[in-house]
Amino acid sequence: MEAATPTETTLHSEVRYLKGVGPRSSDLFAKAGVETMEDLLYYVPRTYTDWSDVSTVESLKRGDRATVVVRVVSCDILRHWRKQIFVAAIEDDTGAVFARWFGQPYLKTVLTAGVKVVLSGEVRFDRFAKRIEFINPAFEVMGEGEAAELVHAGRIVPEYSQIGTLSGRRIRGLVKTALDRFLDQLVDPLPENVLRARDLPGLVESVAEVHFPPSLERAARARSRLAYEEFFLFQVLIALKKRQLAGSADAVRIAWRDDEHVRFMDSLSFKLTGAQKRVISEIAGDLGRDEPMNRLLQGDVGSGKTAVAAAAMHQAVSAGHQAAIMAPTEILAEQHFENLTELLAPLGDRVVLLRGGMRVGERDEALGLIESGEAQVVVGTHALIQEGTNFSDLALAVVDEQHRFGVVQRAALRDKGNAPHVLVMTATPIPRTLALTVYGDLDVAVLDEMPPGREKVVTAVRDEAARRKVYDFLKSEVASARQVFIVYPLVEESEKMELAAATKMYERLKERTFSDATVGLVHGRMKPEEKDAVMEGFKAGNTDILVSTTVVEVGVDVPNATVMVIEHAERFGLAQLHQLRGRVGRGDHQSYCILMVGRGASDEARERIQVLADTNDGFVIAEKDLEMRGPGEFLGVRQHGLPKFSVADLRSDSRLLVQARDDAFAYVAGDPDMSTPEGRLVLDATKRRFKGRGAFMDVG
Ligand code: ADP
Ligand code: MG
Repeated sequence: MEAATPTETTLHSEVRYLKGVGPRSSDLFAKAGVETMEDLLYYVPRTYTDWSDVSTVESLKRGDRATVVVRVVSCDILRHWRKQIFVAAIEDDTGAVFARWFGQPYLKTVLTAGVKVVLSGEVRFDRFAKRIEFINPAFEVMGEGEAAELVHAGRIVPEYSQIGTLSGRRIRGLVKTALDRFLDQLVDPLPENVLRARDLPGLVESVAEVHFPPSLERAARARSRLAYEEFFLFQVLIALKKRQLAGSADAVRIAWRDDEHVRFMDSLSFKLTGAQKRVISEIAGDLGRDEPMNRLLQGDVGSGKTAVAAAAMHQAVSAGHQAAIMAPTEILAEQHFENLTELLAPLGDRVVLLRGGMRVGERDEALGLIESGEAQVVVGTHALIQEGTNFSDLALAVVDEQHRFGVVQRAALRDKGNAPHVLVMTATPIPRTLALTVYGDLDVAVLDEMPPGREKVVTAVRDEAARRKVYDFLKSEVASARQVFIVYPLVEESEKMELAAATKMYERLKERTFSDATVGLVHGRMKPEEKDAVMEGFKAGNTDILVSTTVVEVGVDVPNATVMVIEHAERFGLAQLHQLRGRVGRGDHQSYCILMVGRGASDEARERIQVLADTNDGFVIAEKDLEMRGPGEFLGVRQHGLPKFSVADLRSDSRLLVQARDDAFAYVAGDPDMSTPEGRLVLDATKRRFKGRGAFMDVG
């Protein structure tokens, strides 16, 4: 039976119905996210080459980048070693010149004698032939007599990213075909008033001009309009998701009690920083509403997030409810348990720990306390969200070190209560554009001030030549009873080999270099209990030097550790290095971070790492990281379903993103059901655009 073809090909038909696209090309297109004609129209050029100035042959000089309108006089295929070279003699009314193409013998059927052609390319001097020639120019054959519409040469030419074996030139031709057929079917999804307020060009004009612009300015204008549109539609999705969450059920209002907060502050051994106070009052506002709080608290390592969480949890308890905090590892859960017991038990709050490795008796007891409500503050790991853990009245859920948890765990914890308020804490500063995208459904608060008296961690970049000195320094620190981390990175592809290298290094350090010290090893292949045992030993001060793969990344608190050595620092992202550095500088002693660059590291990599030595500000570092490595590489972002934007760029379009977010949120507030004709249009476009991309797609 023959495959059914739609009777009518439209903008929303699959791209394989486009003239010139076969099954193989359509498979390739699909890989690049181009499935329909519309997708192809949104496949914007990577850049442009301006070949719009036409020269005469007579005026050509070596080194020119020129366009000429010529006729082919004769042509020939030369063989040079194994390569075929296609050479054409061409002329206009002012003179003749040669052009050569390497390895494109098919041209002999295209550029035959007498054909009129537009050539755009570089003019070089050929030393052997002693003449100037075009080398591999772009070309366009012009039909005789018809009004010439240039696509590939002689204009501002769009350059597309190649997709597998689909060349940029092929794609350009196909885009042109699609534009000719479907451009007028495009319907602008942006609301009238947004277009007007932002002074944006219409969709049809923008799509036409982003591909074949009359000027580079117009190309830029068209591209930004399309980027804006992409952000707008995505932010509509986020706004809807946020409303859905807020409207799903009423949270309990927790009226903030100043008397209890004063008791809390009085029991602290320190004064809250200005930033902590500000964030606490933002949270106080959230807790007082019957819409569940859904807030992200960002703060560098050591900025004092725990105290903020504790203040909020104490309020939940004072109002007669339960609060819980979930940590990604047992050791962190235990650390929180100790800290929170110290902070909150004196106030009369009952703090209970629930973790994986408990004995059955202990565990049952903890579960019982949680279920009866006697446990007022519950600290735990994933165990908190498992079946069988039942709260009596969970009103506030805190999730620590967010990047270890996905959206799913966040939701699971939320489900343990009846629309509890949720506070998510992360020590990974996230650039604003990413925060608005990946955590767009959360309100963001930032602890941008460190508690006073913190010494800056002295940071230096060193290479192999300095290894001796570095080791001598470590010895002197160990001799002063300080502790040292040495981190050895594992790259996923060669994890086994590198684990072997890390282990070997550990053995050498233990046997030889630091034979007088106690050296420990911890890595990702160990069982969780083994890992915890090693970490506990280090925390207790039984180990002087801890060699590890990146498992120390998450916030283990060892105030006596003063040196963080990172091997092959060039392999890490800046944000990750910054996080690792945060493991030291937690006590009263001056701390150091030594970034060892490997022999093969490029100058560029060194320069990148140098940023760490220059600043301690996590947000500055995060922005640099985003700039240099792009959003996909950003720590912890991938598992949250970062959408793949086809036009917009999170690095350079942050201003557009902020505008689009404001507009989208305002739009959704005005038409929450998206039920007006305009609203339906927006919603349909959103669904088409973000189908299957990102975790936000569960919105009606
Ligand atoms: P993080 O934000 O990395 O989770 P913590 O909450 O663990 O940071 O705080 C780090 C350390 O700083 C803890 O020992 C905590 O007691 C201390 N701390 C928190 N807030 C202050 C403050 N305002 N002044 C002094 N020390 C503080
Ligand atoms: Mg912490």
